[in-house]
Amino acid sequence: MGCLFCNILEGKIPSAKVYENKRVFAFKDINPQAKVHLLFVHKEHTEDLCQLIKQDVSQLNDLFVAIREYVEQVGLDKSGFRVIINNGKEAGQEVWHTHVHILGGERLGRLNSR
Ligand code: 5GP
Ligand code: ZN
Repeated sequence: MGCLFCNILEGKIPSAKVYENKRVFAFKDINPQAKVHLLFVHKEHTEDLCQLIKQDVSQLNDLFVAIREYVEQVGLDKSGFRVIINNGKEAGQEVWHTHVHILGGERLGRLNSR
């Protein structure tokens, strides 16, 4: 079976793509927690943020350059958006391919740690 998001990247599992460049792919979260809920993933597989930083921290640059380009395209830079990365079990990470959540499209509630 392998990695869910690698399967999405390879087109083996369908997704609602919103953005793509050479290194980064973004699609709608299947279970949205806001009007806009997107997942940005690097095309190189890493399990989590810590592994990504150890392996190739320039992937973070790739991800955030892509995010900036996308939010400018759709005006989220003006209205505002939230960035979340869950790293590991206690943060609730469920998919072990590093991903950046982008939430927006409405007034979000305050962050609640529990
Ligand atoms: P995590 O909890 O690992 O930070 O986030 C995983 C996210 O992936 C969740 O918000 C979940 O809704 C989303 N997700 C899980 N399976 C799929 C899928 O098959 N397709 C899409 N588009 N999103 C998924
Ligand atoms: Zn993967």
